[in-house]
Amino acid sequence: MNFTDAPSPYFTDVPSPYFNDRPEGVQPSLVVLHFTGGKSFDYALETLTKARAQEDGSLRKVSAHYLIREDGAIFRLVDESKRAWHAGVGSWKGSGDVNDISIGIEISNRDRKPYTPEQLAAVTALCHDIQNRYNIPPQNVIGHSDIAPDRKDDPGYHFPWALLAKEGMGVMPQPKLRDYFRAKSIARNPKKLRELFNKAGYKAENLEKMVGAFQQHYEPTVYTDPKHGEKPGTATAKTVAKLRAVARYNKKHG
Ligand SMILES: [Zn+2]
Repeated sequence: MNFTDAPSPYFTDVPSPYFNDRPEGVQPSLVVLHFTGGKSFDYALETLTKARAQEDGSLRKVSAHYLIREDGAIFRLVDESKRAWHAGVGSWKGSGDVNDISIGIEISNRDRKPYTPEQLAAVTALCHDIQNRYNIPPQNVIGHSDIAPDRKDDPGYHFPWALLAKEGMGVMPQPKLRDYFRAKSIARNPKKLRELFNKAGYKAENLEKMVGAFQQHYEPTVYTDPKHGEKPGTATAKTVAKLRAVARYNKKHG
């Protein structure tokens, strides 16, 4: 499928009560992509639009601006001008509250299956539309796991970041030969590795989870190729080289 030929987004409105105002004068500058996880589309839609009681009796209040079904249908749950509750505790390039500055898109995906071509076409059309309207650069389209590696692993290793980077959604900077210089020793040095992650925009308590989140996005074969040989969450020289490429891209483009 040629994603650039995707039709402009068409929404069905299913309003969620879970939103509040963005801070005064703040426009969206970030798009955060999610998957809904192990539950059905209907369950996910209900979770994002109706109060769901938790075991302790309290209500779970979460939302997103959009939800995309397996057949590519787009549902608008929260108006873009409002602050949806999708990101939770997280950080990106030192920013404070991610919900304040972002638009959240949930993609229905049960049991970590590959995304359907219709979903990828829909998310591309929707994302392009949002990026155009708010002038959001490619590098500001990221995954939930990128901003909250300690807690989250969506949109997961099946999300084709490399393919979508060619469409201007997210970036996939390629490492140069020099990025491999001493990469192995950095991979084994937690302090240096953390510093490099911070330069690439990442922040987390758990280093292994941070490595895993990065690999899901930039080096998914660690998860999908049984012959890869390295456990997900273990940084290799290749991981460090890719991380350096991302850090350098950030330094240049902000
Ligand atoms: Zn999420």
